[in-house]
Amino acid sequence: QEEQRIRTQRLESLGTLAGGIAHDLNNVLTPILMSVQLLRQDEPDARKRELLDTLDAAAQRGAGMIRQVLSFARGSEGRREPVDLVALLREVERFCRETLPPAIELVVDAPTELPAVTGDDTELFQVLVNLIANARDAMPQGGVLTVRAAADADGVRLEVRDSGCGMDERTAGRILEPFFTTKETGTGLGLPTSAAIVTAHGGELELTTTPGAGTSVAFVLPGARGEGGGRPSTHAPAAPRGG
Ligand code: ADP
Repeated sequence: QEEQRIRTQRLESLGTLAGGIAHDLNNVLTPILMSVQLLRQDEPDARKRELLDTLDAAAQRGAGMIRQVLSFARGSEGRREPVDLVALLREVERFCRETLPPAIELVVDAPTELPAVTGDDTELFQVLVNLIANARDAMPQGGVLTVRAAADADGVRLEVRDSGCGMDERTAGRILEPFFTTKETGTGLGLPTSAAIVTAHGGELELTTTPGAGTSVAFVLPGARGEGGGRPSTHAPAAPRGG
């Protein structure tokens, strides 16, 4: 009702504001990152190299936060094209191999063929990357990170599971709140952004978590039903659930 409408409006203007600031900050960070790169070519001594590494890491982290804010402000653009989930999962696996620390064991559990779904592969990649980053952060001492994909009666079920710290009830109840974070350098935008994208794809984030044991976040992408041979469908996406 009225309260909900005002809340939604506030969040919308917050998103616009954050998007505007993020855009300006990007223009601040770009010359810093470029200058670091140029200074590296001047054969700096060990001390200067160390300072450049610090500068580079900080600027990269800032750029990462900006990307999160921009993608939250953008939401889902609603592009709906056939998505090759097998190729997408291969990209996700490569991303994991390049970025996860060695103490985290990666398990990718996916069949070689999956039913056709429609959506935006860039947005879906981003959702998985967000969930994987959270799984990684939940396991600072290492553990097992499982990415699972399986055909489901309704489409394709994707899941990211970790053996990390889990969440207490209070935390679990707040994770979809924009800017809610328990991390020192978190933005609190990863899950709200992911939830918006998944909802726009006709799915819903499902959370299962046990404090001290781990967390699973899953969602179902509705399949292209009623078409023979599992060919990519061009029908309109299912309406988001709930309301
Ligand atoms: P951020 O990662 O920037 O904090 P998110 O929206 O992605 O923002 O997550 C919000 C909060 O939800 C996190 O700060 C953390 O407390 C909790 N959380 C999310 N995923 C997990 C997970 N896999 N294990 C434990 N806690 C999690």
